[in-house]
Amino acid sequence: MDNYYDHFTLKIGAKPATFNGKTVRVNIPQSLWTKIRKEVLVNQNNECAICYFKPEESEMKKLHVHEVERYDFENGICELESLNLICEKCHAFHHMARTRATATKEYMEDLINHFMEVNECDRIDYESYKLSAMAEQSKNKKNRKSISPDQIKFKVTGEIPYKNEVITQLKSKELYVD
Ligand SMILES: [Zn+2]
Ligand SMILES: [Zn+2]
Repeated sequence: MDNYYDHFTLKIGAKPATFNGKTVRVNIPQSLWTKIRKEVLVNQNNECAICYFKPEESEMKKLHVHEVERYDFENGICELESLNLICEKCHAFHHMARTRATATKEYMEDLINHFMEVNECDRIDYESYKLSAMAEQSKNKKNRKSISPDQIKFKVTGEIPYKNEVITQLKSKELYVD
């Protein structure tokens, strides 16, 4: 990505289409994810790592646990690097491709305003950032060999709560590579 945007803290993340829907979270029991989420909330002080939004006790669902991933195209592996606590707006923005498909015009405006606020930039910066992010994504699409979605496996490289339990679960489904 262009150096000009390096200081932006809220960015569009590009999950490649091949890895769509492929996450550690959907492959482990909900009860385990609930335990992980609880610990992430505590460890990360109940606040968004990007914009520092800290909801009221009753609105904790506005904080999401985002899976920070790396994609190994050569071997078809989705690596979970860390879990990041972020607010729903930062999260929706980060997953722009997915968000845009369902968001209303009003919600998109809301998100763009959030982006400008967090990154302390104006609308023109936003528009040019968006273009460069899209250009980067289509550039990345080339030079990639296609992997069949059902061949995708996982690896947990980062220190996450209940890491061993997560790995055991993935192994039991033959979805883990050491
Ligand atoms: Zn946020
Ligand atoms: Zn996410």
